This record gives sequence, structure tokens and C-alpha cells, in this order.
Amino acid sequence: MNHLENLKGVGTHTTELLEKLGIFTIEDLVTFYPFRYNILQRTNLLDVESDGKVIVDGVVESLPNVFFIHKKLNKMNFILRTNNSLVHIIIFNRAFLKSRLSVGTEITIFGKYDKRHNTITANDIRFSKLSDEVKIEAVYHTVYGLSSKKLESVIHKSLLLDSTVEDYIPLEYREKYKFLSKRESILELHRPSSLSNLKRARLRTKYEELFIFMIRMEYLKNNQTMKEGLERKIEEFKVKQFIDSLPFRLTEDQYQSIQTIYNDLSCSKRMNRLLQGDVGSGKTIVAIVSMYMNYLGGYQSALMAPTEILAEQHYTNLLSLMKEFNISISLLTGKTCMKEKREIYDGIRTGKIDIVIGTHALISEKLVYNNLGLVVTDEQHRFGVRQRSNLKNKGYLPDILYMSATPIPRTYALALYGDMDISNIKTRPHGRKKIITKVKKDSQIKDVLQSMYEQLQSGHQIYVIAPLIEESENMDLENVKQLYEKMNRAFGKQYNISVLHGKLKKEEKGEVMKRFSENNIQILISTTVIEVGIDVPNATMIVIFDAFRFGLSTLHQLRGRVGRNDLQSYCFLISNSEIERLEVMEREDDGFKISEEDFRLRGSGDLFGTKQSGDMKFMIADIKRDFSILLKAKEDSALFLKDNEDHECVKKILEPVLNIES
Ligand code: ADP
Ligand code: MG
Repeated sequence: MNHLENLKGVGTHTTELLEKLGIFTIEDLVTFYPFRYNILQRTNLLDVESDGKVIVDGVVESLPNVFFIHKKLNKMNFILRTNNSLVHIIIFNRAFLKSRLSVGTEITIFGKYDKRHNTITANDIRFSKLSDEVKIEAVYHTVYGLSSKKLESVIHKSLLLDSTVEDYIPLEYREKYKFLSKRESILELHRPSSLSNLKRARLRTKYEELFIFMIRMEYLKNNQTMKEGLERKIEEFKVKQFIDSLPFRLTEDQYQSIQTIYNDLSCSKRMNRLLQGDVGSGKTIVAIVSMYMNYLGGYQSALMAPTEILAEQHYTNLLSLMKEFNISISLLTGKTCMKEKREIYDGIRTGKIDIVIGTHALISEKLVYNNLGLVVTDEQHRFGVRQRSNLKNKGYLPDILYMSATPIPRTYALALYGDMDISNIKTRPHGRKKIITKVKKDSQIKDVLQSMYEQLQSGHQIYVIAPLIEESENMDLENVKQLYEKMNRAFGKQYNISVLHGKLKKEEKGEVMKRFSENNIQILISTTVIEVGIDVPNATMIVIFDAFRFGLSTLHQLRGRVGRNDLQSYCFLISNSEIERLEVMEREDDGFKISEEDFRLRGSGDLFGTKQSGDMKFMIADIKRDFSILLKAKEDSALFLKDNEDHECVKKILEPVLNIES
């Protein structure tokens, strides 16, 4: 019953086309909603300035003439009086209507107006006065070979079938919000009877989509946290001792996050937490204290970074901060030699190693942990949104802390990471100054060089980001080289300049970074390989060439490489185009706001840095525009799931999720 072949007039050819659209069943078909609507208002022809679609009311002024052009084609014309003016009407293949079109009959004409000839070529005549003011036409996304019209007619046929379509909204919410029934709303979406009914149908459908999404998220969340976690005894005074030993005082937000994580680690509920904070807000130290707490509780920690450079940086950082605390820390990267690797593997298996730092190799099958208790993932978004690791620890699952600076507006993070708890670090460390940002044209490069010189003279370091050319890596390289020459001519006599680019071997990159962080290099020219995480507080200036090529969020990330201590820092954006967009950066230093702006200018694809994945794909709902509906759906779904785990609605909604897991 549910198969497309059951539809009259749908042959194998159409079926194939429908399949291309992801339509396999009648249910797929009827829920293949239009992506937009043509809304046709009643037109006053005197106001019409160019040719186009019109709808006019009027009375027949002259009896129609009919011409039979050939067997399958006839043409009828007559004159219509509308708003006290006259207009010629032409309509094809409606000769059978002639007898009803006597002079004085009230009709409504839909058609295309040709102003010069004062003629409407009509495609429809209605005899009753329309009750509503507008006609709404559905427009479908479709594939070559299948017109939107044809698709509409196939859909309409299937709507006439008395097949039941699953309603995923539980009865109590249907009643609470006085939603249209599923069937009514589907009919309205395809053939709207009025704007207000269409609106109601859309609202219901959005809610349903978001409700389904939120039930799944809620389920995943409950299921993960319900799984038994590790309960630890952590001596608070030792944590305090460690915090007191740090070279700086924690900010209020850092302290709060640590407190929350302390609670998470102490209780048996499994932690699944996202630590979110703008670049430079100081997330790393929260992770470090967390790993120390985990160590005090008697478990091993793994810290995963997206690149080896970052892993090394974390390692160096940890070594120095934990020097006095007698903890065994190891770094595992591609560079680690076989012999050393084997030792580290052994150490992890026997429990000799307390903390291991590395890239995603840390969750590879080969690594066997003795008692892994905490996994920290830095720059979470780099690992992909939905990636779920299958770390096991003698039947327990380790607690998980994700860190992310992708400036996802807090509100969208909820939808994206709906299955996690979130901690936010909102303020930067004490004494941080706003980074002075200036957009400069190529022709103003002298000013920039002058400012660079001043920074170098005061003993500070500089990042220079080379223009990015997407088409070719080789040209990238050429650019970097040219820039190197330029910088060398200007500063080479007094200062060391080095280049970091994608073609360098891992070891070479690491070496360059190391020398930069030790201030053996003063100017680091780079492609965007330095984008995330790098922390060299003595660098106080970043100069970004061809800045227009970057999204604002990326620019914000890049800029976040400076301003990492209490010195005044600077950012130059060099560009001859898109100045206005770039000027947002001069005013704004809040990553969330900048990403909002990016969102507005470039669309959501960029916001999340990933394509929307399976369970985030909505037919109608849009998590940004429909955010208030999302909040309702979230609230309702959480409440509903609590008492109705076995409800039919829930089972149906969860089916795909459960399939994935098994
Ligand atoms: P991000 O959140 O971008 O990962 P980091 O954790 O790398 O930021 O921190 C940025 C810099 O600020 C680092 O050099 C770090 O040592 C320093 N820092 C972190 N917290 C504080 C603090 N409370 N006071 C002063 N400096 C801090
Ligand atoms: Mg970081």
C-alpha cells in the first residue's frame, strides 16, 4: 500500500526520478513539502508596470469566440471588465466553458499579463468569487525531468489515497496547542487554502520536526548519563593546592566550571560536558585542573588535540604546571618512535602513566587503558559534530569533557549539542585589553610595516598570515615565499623570520612552532595552519593578508592568537575589497556576536563548520528562525519522555536512533 507503484499514472520512469529526490514511499511523498510558495495577490491592472502573473476579478463583457486549432488545441478569447477597465482574455483548451461565460458573469482570472497588448493569457478561470484574497502556489525542489507541476500532481494523487500518515506529536500536545491534524496540515502545505491556514500548518510541522529531533537528543542524553559512570573521592584541599600553585588567578567562570566538573566527577552520573569559551578565554587550564582531579580520584586521563602541534603545546604546558605534583605525563604523536611508543602503550596499560596527550590516535583500538576515567577533547568541532567515541574502561564509560571555541552562538549550541551539558567561560582573564583591529588597503602597507617595527622593537613577536589561494597549494607556497622576501627585506637584518605552511613535514612544523614559542623567531609567516589553539603570549600583533577571503569567524579565531597577556595587542586586516564586512572586526570582539554576523552574511553552513548531518536535517524547521519553537519542543520532549519511555510515538521516533546504535 505504501509503495509508489500503487499510484495511478506513476510509472517506473517517474518512480526513478522520485527516488532521486529521496522519495521511496507514499509517506515520503506526502511529506515532501514545497520549499517555497508563490503568493499571488489580486491585482489591479492599472498598477501593473511590467508583464507577469496576475489575478483579476471582473465580469464577462463580450461573448467568447472559440477557435479549434487542431484536435487537441483550441483557443478562446473574450473581453473582461475589471475595475472599470477592459482587458483581453485568451485561454487555451477551455472551449467547454463557453456556455457558462455569458455576458455579465462574475469570474476570477489567473494568468500572465501582457501590458503592451493589454491581454491576459489565462491558465485558470474560477466562477465563484474567491473567499480569500490570495492564491498560493506551491513550488517544489525537484530534479531534471520532473517539473514542479508534475510533482505537485503526483503528490496530490497520493493525498487522495486514504493512507494514514504517522503523527509524531503526542495527543496531549496536539490538544494543548490546538494543532491542525497531521492530515489537514499536509493538505494545507501542498495546497494552501489561505495564508493563515498555511501558517498553522507550517507551525505544526516545524514543531513536529523539532519535537522528533529533541526526543532523540533527550534520549541520547539520558541514555549516556544513565550509563553508570565513575564515582570518585577527590580531596578538595589538594585541588585547591594545585590551583594556588598556578602562575595566575583563575577567573570566576573558570572557577565555576571547575566546581561543576568537580561535582560531575565526584558523583556516579556519567559526565558529558561541553566547555565553551571564546578564543583566549582560558579553557585549557580548566581541562588541566579536571585531569588533575581525575588523577586524585585514581584514574587516568587522555587529552586529545586536533593537531600534533597543539598536542605538543599542551604537553609542554602540563609538564611545567604539574612539575611539583609527581604525575606521570606522556606525549603520543606520529613523531614518537616505535620503541618509545611501545613503552607508552605499556605504561598506559599497566597504569604507570597518569595522563596521556595526543591526537585522535588516543582512542584507537590498540591502546588499552588501565583505568581511563576522563577524556578531554580540545577544539571539539574539529573532530566532527556527531563523532561518538567508543572508549571503554572495564565496562564503565569514562567521563567526557569537550572544549570548543567555535563561536557557535549559545542558543544554537543547545540544538547542536542538545545531548550535552554546557559550561561557558564568558570573560577573558583579568587585565586583557581589547585587541586593536584595523582594516587597511594594500596601498597602506607602509603604516602596517611601521607598526610592526614598533612591536618588534619592544621585544614582541608577530604572526603574518599569507594570502590564501584556494585553487592551488603551489600558488599558496609562492605567496608565502614572496611575503617572506618582503618581510626579510624590511626586518631580516635584525630579526628572525620563518615560514610555516602545509607542505612542511610534521616535525618541521613542530620545530618552527617551538622556536617561535621560545622567541627564537620573531616573525612567523604562515598559512592558516596556525588557526587553532596556538598559545604564544609574547606575540602581540597579527597581520592578515587578503583578509576578505576569510569568514569573520575564522578571522576571529586567527586574531585570538594575540591578546594572550595583558599587553596591548593589534590586528591588521589587509584587503582591497569587502571593507564593510571586515569592519565588523574593528568594532566587535565577541566571538558569539561575530558568528551571528557571519551567519547573517554567509549562511548557516559556515556557522557549524560541518554540513548539517542526518538528524539535523529538517524539511521546514530552521533552528535559527524557529528558535522559540525549538525551545518549546525541547521542554515538551524532555517532559514527555520522562513518563512515556514506552509510548508508541516515542518508539517510532527513536527507531532510527536505536538502529544506528546496534
Ligand atoms: P583558549 O580558551 O583559547 O584555549 P587558553 O586556554 O590557551 O585559551 O588560554 C589563553 C592564555 O591565557 C594562555 O596563555 C593561558 O595560560 C592564559 N590564561 C588562562 N587563564 C588565565 C587567567 N585566569 N589569568 C591569566 N592568564 C590566563
Ligand atoms: Mg585552546
